[in-house]
Amino acid sequence: MRMTVAFIGLGNMGGGMAANLAAKGHFVRAFDLSADALEKARLAGCAAAGSAEQAVSGAHVIVTMLPAGQHVASVYRDAVFGKAAAGPLLIDCSTIDVGTAKALAAEAAGHGLVAVDAPVSGGIAAANSGTLTFMVGGTDEGYARAKPVLEAMGKAVIHAGASGAGQTAKICNNMLLGASMIATAEAFVLAQALGLDPQRFYDIASVSSGQNWSMTSYCPLPGVGPESPADRDYQGGFAVALMLKDLRLAAEAAELAHAQTPMGAKAREIYEAFAEAGQGGLDFSAIVKALEPR
Ligand code: NAD
Repeated sequence: MRMTVAFIGLGNMGGGMAANLAAKGHFVRAFDLSADALEKARLAGCAAAGSAEQAVSGAHVIVTMLPAGQHVASVYRDAVFGKAAAGPLLIDCSTIDVGTAKALAAEAAGHGLVAVDAPVSGGIAAANSGTLTFMVGGTDEGYARAKPVLEAMGKAVIHAGASGAGQTAKICNNMLLGASMIATAEAFVLAQALGLDPQRFYDIASVSSGQNWSMTSYCPLPGVGPESPADRDYQGGFAVALMLKDLRLAAEAAELAHAQTPMGAKAREIYEAFAEAGQGGLDFSAIVKALEPR
């Protein structure tokens, strides 16, 4: 069914996602504070709106892809709650803190609206090619309504649970990824320091019990395993700064839940030092550079 979709936040991720919605035949009314981003969306088949309020007016669905919780809250509170008529479904695809996601869903319900959190796995390439994975937190009704919209932008749409469960799945997954990347990098560093050829180590570990995604799909060493950001001098991919954001969200959630996450905390510390050393723009697998033997 062709729907009118308001899309707010047309950055690295949102730009490609909005373009895919338009390419699948939806009428997309796009808005971003950046005029450049808005122009790119217009060229990709979206209608450019002059404000968030204008974008959401009369929309069936409102998708947000914004930096953090405060941005989503301000768009919802300033442009949607009490203003958007016709009961639009709210889908927030940004990675934000679990508490804000839950609070916004409850606030939406108070306005008679259904809101789901639907953060994504997959980076800019997956956003552009429409192959993201969405993890959805919300009611069965919210999930059922969001699914066909999300399917236009992704390859998998999974109902994680109630409000906030999508964000929970996202930060737990990325905490695991952050720690496993460091563990993989340090195993390669040690193997090399002990004189073992990294390709030979890859051949062995990738079919042994140390096997993991950070090694076999995204190896932090150039020239080893399938092509990865390491082969492009760690340009592109998933930036250290974004990994750090997710590790901080995980730490905040862990504290509130009284959960013990020592590996997540250590990973955050290591990425923090790397970002402070000016490397926040590199792909997160560049953390191997921080582990070079002294
Ligand atoms: P980005 O900074 O490239 O884009 C965010 C966009 O939001 C910008 O264009 C900015 O102008 C716009 N914006 C900010 N406040 C706004 C407002 N009030 N109204 C309208 N527009 C506003 O960020 P991104 O890389 O696209 O990431 C977006 C979200 O997706 C983040 O939560 C991020 O953590 C998450 N994410 C990113 C990646 C990735 O690889 N980049 C992967 C998975 C998840």
